[in-house]
This record gives sequence, structure tokens and C-alpha cells, in this order.
Amino acid sequence: MNKPFRIAMLGKQGAGKGTQCSRISDQFSIPHISTGDMLRQAVKVGTEFGLKAAEFMERGDLVPDDVIIGTVVERLTQDDAVDRGYLLDGFPRTLAQAKALDSAIEGALKLVVNLDVATDIVLERLSSRRVCEGCGRTYSTTNPPTNGWVCDTCGGEVVQRADDTPDAISRRLAIYDELTSPLIDWYSEKGLLVTVEGSGDLDIVTSKIVEAINSVA
Ligand code: AMP
Repeated sequence: MNKPFRIAMLGKQGAGKGTQCSRISDQFSIPHISTGDMLRQAVKVGTEFGLKAAEFMERGDLVPDDVIIGTVVERLTQDDAVDRGYLLDGFPRTLAQAKALDSAIEGALKLVVNLDVATDIVLERLSSRRVCEGCGRTYSTTNPPTNGWVCDTCGGEVVQRADDTPDAISRRLAIYDELTSPLIDWYSEKGLLVTVEGSGDLDIVTSKIVEAINSVA
């Protein structure tokens, strides 16, 4: 793919979008733009955007489209994203978001990667997932940090996300099926979609995504 790289990653919660996006972002030097991370940061700092988003996030609901779209489009028009492109993680998540992205930026996406993982596997991953509050590094109950629940990278506290509880997980997966999965057909019809099986070895999954990126003109 020629510069600017303009890629979105679709996939259920727990499919490994965050992990794969940070690998691809490092390899191609593309800004990794995760709406979940942007929202969590805004909640932590207590901005107006964060205050509006917090209650939706905790329940496992999507933040309303009008709250998220403007913020993402503003981020995508910053210099690094204009110059290098972007790797979108968690956006778009609804048809309205996809359409808004299209009308805000001409040729907004050159490739959409659908990271496909079966529901029983993501359920298991989400309920055992633990995340560093400081740097966002992901662990699990079967792959914990070396010393208690203290992050090996930054020393931050490693916790269970408020929306990784059983109720919120089932709500998020139901919302994915209803509102996000229609994007798979939508981007497929536009000829932008590549599906990558995401349940296997991390390095193999990354190499399949790299192959998809390299195959786009
Ligand atoms: P994630 O880390 O991507 O699972 O996102 C965590 C939460 O942030 C989601 O459950 C939503 O509440 C919210 N969120 C993230 N991205 C979006 C989006 N594109 N549209 C609406 N809400 C979002």
C-alpha cells in the first residue's frame, strides 16, 4: 500500500484488534487510533467528552455516534494522520459512523481487515483479560505479570476492565452482532474487506495482515 496508509480493523471485542494494531502500527509507522483508548483516557482525565462517555462504556453500550464521530474526524485531520495515514481500532462501529467517515474524508479507507475469531474464544479471552491502568498492556489470568498484579512494563496496576464483567461482555457482543457486524458486508461490497482468521498464533496473524496491506495498491 502506498502512503498514506488508511486502514480500519474490524472484529469482536477480544478478537485481538488492539494487539495486532500496535504491531502493525510499529512495523509501518502508522498512527494507531483506538477509540476505546481515546475514550478511556478522556474518562480518566475527566474531560466533557469523557464525562458524556463514561456511563455508556461502563454498561457496555456504544457511546452515541454524535459524541464519537466529531472527535475521530478531528484526530484524522491532524498532521501525522494526513501524512502517514491511520490504523483505526474500534472505529467505525456502526453504519452511521462508516458513512460519516466516508463523507468527511474522501477515500477514507483503502483496506478494512476483519479479524475473525469465534465467539466462544473471545468470551474466554475477555473474562480472563487484565489490563495495565498505566500503559494499557494486556495480560490474562493465565498470563499474568511477573510480580503480582503490577505491570512488567510501567509498574502500573493491572486490573480487570469495568466492562469485562459477564453482563457487560454479553451486552457488548450482542451490540457487535447487531450494529457492527453489518459493516462486514458493507465494506465487502465496496471491495475493501479482507478477512483474517485471528484465533491462531499471534505472529502468523500479524503476517497475514501484513500480506493484506502489501497486496493493496
Ligand atoms: P474498546 O476498547 O474498543 O472495546 O471500546 C471500549 C468502549 O468504548 C466500548 O464498549 C464503547 O462503549 C466505547 N467505544 C469505543 N469505540 C466506539 C465507537 N466507535 N463508537 C461508540 N462507542 C465506542
